[in-house]
Amino acid sequence: MSTVVDALIGKIFSETCSNRGGELADYIPELAAVAPDSFGICIATVDGYVYEVGDTRLPFTIQSISKPFTYALALADRGAEAVAEKIDVEPSGEPFNEISLDPMTERPRNPMINAGAITAASLVAGPDVDSRFERIREAYSRYAGRELTFNEAVYASESHTGHRNRAIGHMLRSFDIITGDPDEAVDLYFRQCSIDVTCRDLSLMAATMANNGVNPVTHDTVLAPVLVERVLSVMSTCGMYDGAGKWLYEVGLPAKSGVGGGIVAVLPGQIGIAIYSPRLDAHGNSVRGVEACRALSAELELHFLHVT
Ligand code: GLU
Repeated sequence: MSTVVDALIGKIFSETCSNRGGELADYIPELAAVAPDSFGICIATVDGYVYEVGDTRLPFTIQSISKPFTYALALADRGAEAVAEKIDVEPSGEPFNEISLDPMTERPRNPMINAGAITAASLVAGPDVDSRFERIREAYSRYAGRELTFNEAVYASESHTGHRNRAIGHMLRSFDIITGDPDEAVDLYFRQCSIDVTCRDLSLMAATMANNGVNPVTHDTVLAPVLVERVLSVMSTCGMYDGAGKWLYEVGLPAKSGVGGGIVAVLPGQIGIAIYSPRLDAHGNSVRGVEACRALSAELELHFLHVT
């Protein structure tokens, strides 16, 4: 089996490698300075085997791929009902950083856009912002099965330029979605986006979701199965920015991307997939990442509606 998967990801890697379409994120200098042609593909199975090709051990910031994992922590800390009172689960059809709430419910539309993600960060329990961030970093580390570290330089730039996210935080405060200090919630969000991961880490984080919340290598139970279902549901409908509909149509897997160039995708009960390639399309999704996932899904018949 292993040689078959190795050969397949090798083939997809070489076929996709020549695609140099897309642009690096450039809203902060650190993201614009990464090597644009880096490319890695990892598949981690629920029995803990990792298939990998390319730049799978290169660190980059998790950015928006953090959103499902912090949402999971908020669900675990506060319960699904309390979180649902603050964050809806409907696709927004708006840009990820839109300064808006659903006019009917006056809640952020989902936890994968910034308004919902900042709210989720505000719901993580802990006595102060440092210990709450430490809980977030530890939780992500347990999904990855190793100690993840914080990228100070990216955080400093995110914080320096993050006026739009601060506006979202204050809007959330004015509607009582955030009841504490909105600047603290936004700061926590900047910090979570600035955690370094590798493609291999992301595949294990995804495989932990695929394995019903249990890390397949360390056997650590990170999330209750009932909450895994909730998180994967919003990843299915809202995980790929404004490209979420087309993604589900073509690839058919719950997924999340980030402007750092990563994508994670989950086939429940079987595998976690991660791609790293930092050139982005107009939605903010990795160009090669989308292409490679489309090919993987077709070749391995991964679409969740596919009947064998
Ligand atoms: N730090 C970014 C922001 O909120 C995350 C961007 C992303 O990956 O979508 O602006």
